[in-house]
Amino acid sequence: MSLSPATGPLLYEGKAKRVYATDREDVVAVEYKDDATAFNALKKAQLLGKGAMNCRISALLFEHLEQLGVPTHYRGLYSDHWMMVRPVRVVPVEVVVRNLAAGSLCRQMPIAAGTPLEPPLLDLYYKDDALGDPLLSEARLDRLGVVTPAQLEAIRNLAFRVNDGLRALFGPVGLELVDFKIELGFTATGELVVADEISPDTCRLWDRAVADAQDRILDKDRFRQDLGGVVEAYGEVLKRVQGVCPEPRVYR
Ligand code: UDP
Repeated sequence: MSLSPATGPLLYEGKAKRVYATDREDVVAVEYKDDATAFNALKKAQLLGKGAMNCRISALLFEHLEQLGVPTHYRGLYSDHWMMVRPVRVVPVEVVVRNLAAGSLCRQMPIAAGTPLEPPLLDLYYKDDALGDPLLSEARLDRLGVVTPAQLEAIRNLAFRVNDGLRALFGPVGLELVDFKIELGFTATGELVVADEISPDTCRLWDRAVADAQDRILDKDRFRQDLGGVVEAYGEVLKRVQGVCPEPRVYR
């Protein structure tokens, strides 16, 4: 049996994943890499095992969301670091939902890290590395013309459904979902689905049982802030979610 499901050309290479065509038009293969990057790729490292860890965590979270009726691009796992997904036209907007203040919000506003945000805050960023993924206003998004007002409404609703679904999962296993980023895409039939990945690379997760502001971090902030124990922290997230999500289906 082949170790790689990629039977077609490389379609796209990002910082943490590669996307390949397969012999089926309606499926593409995503390879999760061990590369870690932060600060628009100014900081880089190889973290052995990170790719497989994020692939499995993403699969579990997609299974959970699908079970709740939240549409995603996920089709199933192929192997430890390969996931099969539906091809989508990615909306060039990064959608961030924040439950507690952290990261860029605290750098840009006078708000202390950890301040609860109720209702959760939704921020949109234009996905463009050369421009540094700038924060968008609704007027700027409208000017860009990449989504219609109706699509924006659908994006917003989907993002909050993802937030509700993830918080319901993480809360009982002692994980605080501080914030997360998702990317959305349109399938060939025009359905809006959650794409990309959902993992400790794209979510801030704090261990609810730990009070120390650094020790509680179980996400990519450990890499951003040079705290060490990155893969171990991701392993802790995996351990907690694998008992409460459906077992990832295998796609071959
Ligand atoms: N995030 C991401 N990719 C990005 C920017 C942010 O996955 O290119 C995630 C990040 O991990 C966090 C959330 O989006 O969970 C909000 O990030 P924020 O805007 O606070 O930016 P940061 O502090 O990471 O620069």
